[in-house]
Amino acid sequence: MDERQAILSTVKAESQATLAALEHEHARMIEASLDSNADDEHDPEGATIAFEREQLAAALARTRAALARIDQAQAELQAGRYGVCAGCGEPIAVARLEARPLATHCISCADGRRV
Ligand SMILES: [Zn+2]
Repeated sequence: MDERQAILSTVKAESQATLAALEHEHARMIEASLDSNADDEHDPEGATIAFEREQLAAALARTRAALARIDQAQAELQAGRYGVCAGCGEPIAVARLEARPLATHCISCADGRRV
């Protein structure tokens, strides 16, 4: 397995683990809300629960989006386009991909764009 492939595999496994944990938490929260008669609007605890539910939904959406981008990156890898700078067309350094697996620009182009 080459370095780029290994980077994507690692980050994908991490995201999948995060997603599984979030989904578990989400299921638990739904179960808890079915058990209680908490009124989200009038019960002060309900407001906290609603906030937590929102945070969790946002985290789920972020993780799913990250996984979709990783899948896309793996397809790009197959096509030989992963880790190629979208700015200058040069390969992006492996060290940079390790830090930011979904980086689309090499460090010098990113600096130039102030990203
Ligand atoms: Zn570049």
